[in-house]
Amino acid sequence: MAAYPGTFDPITLGHVDVVQRGLKLFDSVIIGVAENVQKKPHFPLETRLQMVSSVFATESRVKVSPFCGLLVDFAKQSNSCAILRGLRAASDFEYEFQMATMNRRLNTSIETVFVMAREEYTFVSSSFIREIHNMGGDVADLLPAGILEHLQKNR
Ligand code: ADP
Repeated sequence: MAAYPGTFDPITLGHVDVVQRGLKLFDSVIIGVAENVQKKPHFPLETRLQMVSSVFATESRVKVSPFCGLLVDFAKQSNSCAILRGLRAASDFEYEFQMATMNRRLNTSIETVFVMAREEYTFVSSSFIREIHNMGGDVADLLPAGILEHLQKNR
């Protein structure tokens, strides 16, 4: 099992791609939807959980859970041997490097594993999608089925 944490505000096809790559490496993936109050998410935790769960409703190897507190504790409680993260551009690296190093200090038995999503998704982030959508841009082909409706409701 690998734990894939994130804010998923909202879930994008970039996230889905990361999960699919994780499933090639691990028997299952538990997606930890972070409460992340300090990031002031656009969607409430309940909605973000609902969106992520609906995307993976038919994938028995994917579990979805809310989480707050230390990521290494979430990983340990879910019996995960690894933390799964995605890397887009070099700009992701500094933060991810800092987080992976800190998590290794906190728990040496949990490895952080990075995967790269398809090139088409390297520029995709939840915040960018929300911004483009709010300005009237078409983001439908960057979102899993059913997520655009949430954006339209929550404009
Ligand atoms: P966080 O607030 O923890 O960064 P996000 O939901 O923004 O939460 O992202 C969760 C993880 O998914 C991060 O590792 C991020 O780099 C990765 N990720 C998000 N979008 C993409 C994408 N388009 N391609 C690859 N990785 C991605």
